[in-house]
Amino acid sequence: MKTNLKKYLRARRPIIWCNTNNYDEIDSLVTEITTEYTNKVIYEFRALGAIDFETKEISEEVKRLYDFLETIYSDGFEKQVFLILKNVDEDIKNVETLAYLKRIAELNYKNYNYNFFTIIVTNSLEIPLEIEDYTSILEERKLDEEEISSYIFEFCKKNEIKFDMNEIKDISILLKGLKTLEINHVLNMMLEEDRILSIRNKHIIIKEKGQLIKKSNILELVNFKEKIEDIGGLQHLKKWLNNKSIIFKNLEGAKNFGVDTPKGVLLVGMPGCGKSLAAKASARLFNTPLLRLDIGRLLGKYVGESEHNMREALKTAESISPCILWIDEIEKAFSGIEQSGGASDITKRLFGHFLTWLQEKESAVFVVATANDISSFPPEFLRKGRFDEIFFIDFPNEQERERIFEIHLEKRRKNLKNFDCLKLAKETSGYCGADIEEVIKLSIEEAFIKNKELVIDNLLKNIKEIEPLSLTLKDKIKVMRENIEKFRLKDASKSIQDDIDEIIKDNKNIDKDIEFLKNKELVLVKGENYKAANSYYNKNRVNYDLKVGKYQVTQNIWQKIMKNNPSKFLGSEKPVDSVSWWEALEFCNKLSIACGLDPVYKIVIREERKFLNIIQLDGKIVSPENVNFKKTEGFRLPTELEWEWFASGGEINLQNDTNYSFSGSDVLQKVGWFKENSLNETKRVGLKHSNQIGIYDCSGNVWEWCFDSFSEDKLPLNKTYIYNGSENRNRLRGGSWDSLSLDCRISSRGKLSKTVKSSRIGFRVVRTV
Ligand code: ADP
Repeated sequence: MKTNLKKYLRARRPIIWCNTNNYDEIDSLVTEITTEYTNKVIYEFRALGAIDFETKEISEEVKRLYDFLETIYSDGFEKQVFLILKNVDEDIKNVETLAYLKRIAELNYKNYNYNFFTIIVTNSLEIPLEIEDYTSILEERKLDEEEISSYIFEFCKKNEIKFDMNEIKDISILLKGLKTLEINHVLNMMLEEDRILSIRNKHIIIKEKGQLIKKSNILELVNFKEKIEDIGGLQHLKKWLNNKSIIFKNLEGAKNFGVDTPKGVLLVGMPGCGKSLAAKASARLFNTPLLRLDIGRLLGKYVGESEHNMREALKTAESISPCILWIDEIEKAFSGIEQSGGASDITKRLFGHFLTWLQEKESAVFVVATANDISSFPPEFLRKGRFDEIFFIDFPNEQERERIFEIHLEKRRKNLKNFDCLKLAKETSGYCGADIEEVIKLSIEEAFIKNKELVIDNLLKNIKEIEPLSLTLKDKIKVMRENIEKFRLKDASKSIQDDIDEIIKDNKNIDKDIEFLKNKELVLVKGENYKAANSYYNKNRVNYDLKVGKYQVTQNIWQKIMKNNPSKFLGSEKPVDSVSWWEALEFCNKLSIACGLDPVYKIVIREERKFLNIIQLDGKIVSPENVNFKKTEGFRLPTELEWEWFASGGEINLQNDTNYSFSGSDVLQKVGWFKENSLNETKRVGLKHSNQIGIYDCSGNVWEWCFDSFSEDKLPLNKTYIYNGSENRNRLRGGSWDSLSLDCRISSRGKLSKTVKSSRIGFRVVRTV
C-alpha cells in the first residue's frame, strides 16, 4: 500500500481512493510519505467536520465538506496540500461537493503550479462517476493464509489467549479475504469467556464476511443446513463432489502435487430434483460459505452495468474465498443471446468474461451453476474444460425415490419401520424429490390436524392427489430432455464405475467359469484390407485383428452371466435364443466386466426408451455413428462387415480366393442347420463343419444379431438405401433353423427391430484385439 501511495503521489494523481477502513494506518503512511515534501500542509475532514490532522481536534467552524474545500482551495497555489477525507461517503454524494472536488482535481491535472491531493479513505468501492477519471484506487493488500496464521499466533500471544494449534489453519482459511482490521475485530468477537479461540465460533467469521457481501448487492449469503447425506440418489454426483472437496480443502497441497484447482460444476436437469439442494450440500461438504449470484440483479438496465456487476461479483467472491459461488438458473443470462443487437452483445461479452475468469481462476472459488433449460446455451459454454464437469440430473428412479422418502420421513421424526418406502417409491414413478417432499408434508399436516399418527395410507392417498411436476410441465420437460440428449451430459445418478461395481458384486465367482471364453473359445481373426466377391459391401474395411466367438453364445454361458434363460429350445450347449438386440448388448457388457475388460456399451433408459452410446478406451463416450471399435476392449456384437469378414474365412479366404456362398462351404448341408435339416429346432453348437478359420454355425442354426452403427459412411453408397429412422433395420446375419438356404448365404441380411425376441435369433460375441 505504501509504495503505491507514494507512486500515485509522485505521478500527481489528484484523487486517491483508499479502499480500507484502517484509518491509523493511512495516517502513518501519509505522515511518512509526505516527509519528503517540505512546503506542505495536511488537512483532514471526517463526517463530523474538519479535524486537525496532528491533534485530531475537531474544528467548531467548518461542518460541511463543501465549505471546507472552499476555505482551503487556494492553498494549492502556495503549498503542497494533502487532504484526507474519512467516512465521507454521504458528503460526496452531494452534487456540489462532487463538482468542487472535480474542479480541484482538474486544476491539479492541468496546472503544475497547483498542488492539491485528495485522499479518500473508505470501505466503499463505488467511485462517483464525476471524479472517476481523476481517481486512482489503492487497495489494502489482503494477507495470505500463512500471514493470517502468524497474525493469529501473535494476536493470541499478545493477549494471552489459549488456542488449539491444529485449528489455526482452518481458522486462517476462513479468515482469508478480510482486511487486517477486520481480522482483528473478528478474532476478538470469537473469543470465548475463558479466553479461548476456537473454530467452534466460525459462524462469526461467516457473518462478518456476509457484511462484505451485502454491500455488493448482487451476491447473497445463503444460510443452509443441508448435508450431502440429505440428497437421495445422485450417487455419481455425490461421489464426485466428495472427491473435489478433498482437493479443495487442501488446495495448496493439491496444487503442489500437480492437481488442477477445481473450477466448478454445472448441474443441468429437471426441476425439483435436487439441483439447489446439491449446491447447498456442497457448501457444507466443502466447509465454506455459500454465495448466491442473482442473475436477474446482475443484468442491469444500463449499458456496461451488467459487465461491471459481473466483475464486482466475481471480485467479491474472490475476496470471500474459499467459498462456493452458486449461480442459480444460469440460463436466464442467455435468454436473448440469439437475438441480434445490443442485448445479445452484452450477454456475449458478459459471459465471455465469466468463462475466461472461470478458466483462468486460481482462487478458491468453486462455482456451482444450475440450470433447468439448456436450449439457449451457446455451445462453447458446454465445452469441456470450462467446468470440471457437467451433470444431468434426471427424475429419480425407483431406488432413489425410496431413499428420498426415507430422508424426508426421518427428517420429520417418523420411524421408518412403519413405512414401506419401496412401495411408496413404486407408486411415485415420475415424481421428483420436491413432489415427494410435498406428499409427506401434506400428509403429516393432515394427520396432525386429525390428531392421528401418520400411516402409509395417508401418503398413498396424497400421492394420488398431487400432480407431479413431470405432468404439470410435461411439454417443457420433453423439450428439455431432447436438448439434454443432444448434448450427451453425464448422468448424475450413475457412473460406469457404479455399473461395474454392481456387476462385479453379482458375479464374484464366475470369473473362473468363463475363463475359457477369454481364450479357448475365441478365434483370432487377422485383419486385412478386405474386399470379398460375395459381399454386400463393396469397400474394404476390417483392417484390425479380432477375437471372434468360435460358437454362437450358448445357453450355458448366457445363464452364468445373466442368471436366466429365455430360450425356447432348451439345451445348455444350444445357442441362446429369444434374446433382443438390447439384451445381447447387456450380456456383452456383463461378460466384459466378468472378464476384467472395459465394457463397450453405455445404455441409457429414458421414458422406457433405450439409447445407446459407446465407451471408448480413452474414456470418451461417443454416439454409435462416431464409434471407433479399434478403441474398445470388451465384448461386443460384430458389425455386419466384421461378421462377413470372419464368416467368409477372413484372410484364408483372401489367400485361397474360394468365396463360398455359405460360411465354410458352397454346400449348406455341410456347415449349417436350416429348414431342410433342422427338424424345426436349434441344434447344439459346433456339430457341423467349421469354416476355414475354425468358426462354427455362421450359416443357419440361429440368426445372429449384428451391430449397426446407423452410419451411412460405413455402409455402401447405395442410392436406394435411406435411413428413415425406422427401427426395422438390417442387423441380422446368417439365417436360422427355419430359413431357406437363400437366407443362409453370407451376403444375405435380415431386418428386425432391436426389441424383438425370437426363437430364430441368437448372437455371437467378438472383441477387438
Ligand atoms: P431444483 O432441482 O429445482 O433446484 P431443489 O433442489 O430446490 O430442486 O429441490 C426442492 C426440494 O425437493 C429440496 O429442497 C428437497 O427437499 C427436495 N428434493 C429434491 N430432490 C431431492 C433428492 N434427490 N433428495 C432429497 N430431497 C430432494
